[in-house]
Amino acid sequence: MTIFKINRGMRDFLNKDAKTMKSIENIARKVAELYGYEEIITPVVESFDLLSAKTGEEIRSRMYAFKDLGGRKVALRPEFTASVARVVATTLKNKPRPLRLFCVGSLYRYDEPQHGRYREFWQSNYELIGTNKPQADAEILLLTNSLLDKVGLKNYAFKIGHVGIIREILTQENCKEEIQNKVMQLMDKKHYSEAINLLKSIGISKHCISTLQKLTELKTKNVFTTISKIGKYVKNYYKAVEAIENITEILNLIVESEKRIDLFFDASFVRGLEYYTGMIFEIFIPEINIALGGGGRYDKLIELFGGEPTSAVGVAHGIDRIMLAMQNQKILPKTKKRETVVIIPIHTQLKKEVLQISEKLRSTDLSVRAEVMDRKITKALEDADRRNISYAIIVGERELKERAVVIRNLKTREQRIIKKEDIAKTLLNGEI
Ligand code: AMP
Repeated sequence: MTIFKINRGMRDFLNKDAKTMKSIENIARKVAELYGYEEIITPVVESFDLLSAKTGEEIRSRMYAFKDLGGRKVALRPEFTASVARVVATTLKNKPRPLRLFCVGSLYRYDEPQHGRYREFWQSNYELIGTNKPQADAEILLLTNSLLDKVGLKNYAFKIGHVGIIREILTQENCKEEIQNKVMQLMDKKHYSEAINLLKSIGISKHCISTLQKLTELKTKNVFTTISKIGKYVKNYYKAVEAIENITEILNLIVESEKRIDLFFDASFVRGLEYYTGMIFEIFIPEINIALGGGGRYDKLIELFGGEPTSAVGVAHGIDRIMLAMQNQKILPKTKKRETVVIIPIHTQLKKEVLQISEKLRSTDLSVRAEVMDRKITKALEDADRRNISYAIIVGERELKERAVVIRNLKTREQRIIKKEDIAKTLLNGEI
């Protein structure tokens, strides 16, 4: 007989894990509601051309791409942003700005699986579209903080950067975009000497090299001290100074929101160079060295999908990684306690009555499992004990004649006979 195995990089979520994933998704949805983000549901399968329009080469080469039966080149979405941009540039083209959009679901990347990196993973994604104001950047940081706080995570920190600082220094030095990207990627990986050597090889000014070196050597704890020092180092690069002013304003807004958020600034941090044009960030906890989510400002993206030039800022939270973080910090999902009941007939002829009573109880929001294997009472009760069920209802002919059943508390072993119409009240009020 063939034994089918799950595909590499894919997982089945059972019991606790499925509950945790859903509880994070529910919190993400609640946060979307609290901040006024409307949920949109877009397809998992999109056209390859759309998904590859502005995705970085790294993601593009790892897409699950195939031809459908109609010969169209399609792919499983590796991120939400392309789908959101498509909707904004078409269906929502004439809707008043700002747009606040939320999506949650699974994404697919043919990455090499490792700790916290899967081929199928889940994100909650928020996009604030139509404004370039720092309040919008601050809102995305605050809603991310709210989600992590509600999930129950502790000691998480925001790593903040701004694509504009190094990009504008290099632009003013007439460095081509391709070289800029290479330099920024090397600096992000902390391969500073390679970055400097590359710049030297194309004859960049000594002043520029020493400015970049000062940025990378900077080590201060206070985020505002860091930023003001960077501001001094880059003062001859007027657009980089604008980037510093922008990030200072965003972070001041966070401080003034009176939320205590752990922030640190890293001038050489980059992510999604094809996308981001301003503030960027990622979130970490001390226990694991992988980002739980990340985002930033992307002011050029919507027009690349055929929309009007539109400023936007957004974030994607890795639901799988938030679950991993919760497991590391031993945080259990917050779920509503619900009383559970099994309902067992004395003999199989009473199955109709069992179904009828079960349906009545479920309509009062009790979670009811009816006996469906024709087991003897003792066997069915043993099974209920194993499953940690709170109560059993035993349906017998003698009691039914009096319109009653036996009700048993499986924890205390107390049992009594009660009228059918009183079952729900007795269980919900914990009267047994
Ligand atoms: P990105 O869409 O690459 O900007 O990633 C945003 C967040 O999604 C990351 O910070 C991770 O939390 C999560 N993420 C990205 N790729 C994966 C993956 N292969 N497996 C699990 N989570 C991922």
